[in-house]
Amino acid sequence: MSADLTKTNQREQRIKNNTQLKMFFFAFAMALQITSLNSGSNGNCYYIANESDAILIDTGISCKETEKRMCGLGLSMQKVKAIFISHEHTDHIKGLPVIAAKYNLPVFITKGTYHKSGLSIAPKAINWLKPGDSVYVGELCITSFFKQHDAEDPQSFVVAYKGINVGVFTDIGVCCEKLVSHFKICHAAFLESNYDETMLENGRYPLFLKNRIRGGKGHLSNTQALEIFTTHRPPFMSHLLLAHLSKDNNDPQMVQRLFETQAKQTKIIVASRYAATSLYTITHPFIPIPVVAARPVQMQLF
Ligand SMILES: [Zn+2]
Ligand SMILES: [Zn+2]
Repeated sequence: MSADLTKTNQREQRIKNNTQLKMFFFAFAMALQITSLNSGSNGNCYYIANESDAILIDTGISCKETEKRMCGLGLSMQKVKAIFISHEHTDHIKGLPVIAAKYNLPVFITKGTYHKSGLSIAPKAINWLKPGDSVYVGELCITSFFKQHDAEDPQSFVVAYKGINVGVFTDIGVCCEKLVSHFKICHAAFLESNYDETMLENGRYPLFLKNRIRGGKGHLSNTQALEIFTTHRPPFMSHLLLAHLSKDNNDPQMVQRLFETQAKQTKIIVASRYAATSLYTITHPFIPIPVVAARPVQMQLF
């Protein structure tokens, strides 16, 4: 090979490497990172972030435990810029007063939820959430919408960032049109899969509680969640995190198996009642993150 040709090859290789590097950072800048810090009737807390800002949806575990679990994932509370509350049940607000005060965080909550909660938050921290409105936290866009649940003013959320959507859909009595329309746009979703119908029916709960859970204002069963997933999943949904599983009336391994049979390209994760999940990176499907051994990227793509 002549010296000139070698130089040309080296220059081309440098351009390719440079392009791959650029593409990596571009893709990274177009990603959301998500984790469930805890999920279930003993506490719910979901973390969603882009490269510069993070939010917590619900703060149902203690401030100390939230910090510990975030630290275990290499996450910092300093990046968290706001808290969003879905409804006033204890498993969604237990840690709120301490964590909001300690980090001086704005809390987005509906008037109905706040007044029913009995909480006392510094007035300057409170931001009234109006269902259907979109709130911006940096470049994260958070939209809330009403859901069926036995609470004062319960809300689901979709977090959007540069065309990537992540939904938080737990504590839902029954699927509705709004849930379907939002689920259909999600690249990742936390979806409640609370109970197995047979386990609930044959379980130790008193009848009034069984009826509260399955009565249309309680929780989604595995069957209902699977129906939502298989009927309304968009082709670009990369991650489904099954959430708020009952300790008494469900089995995480069974849920994992049930959804994996229908998963296709979607990664199925069952969120735990006792620990954080891994941290997942959600990217736009048309901007894949190249790995080190990726094929050279052609210049005309940019
Ligand atoms: Zn709950
Ligand atoms: Zn609830």
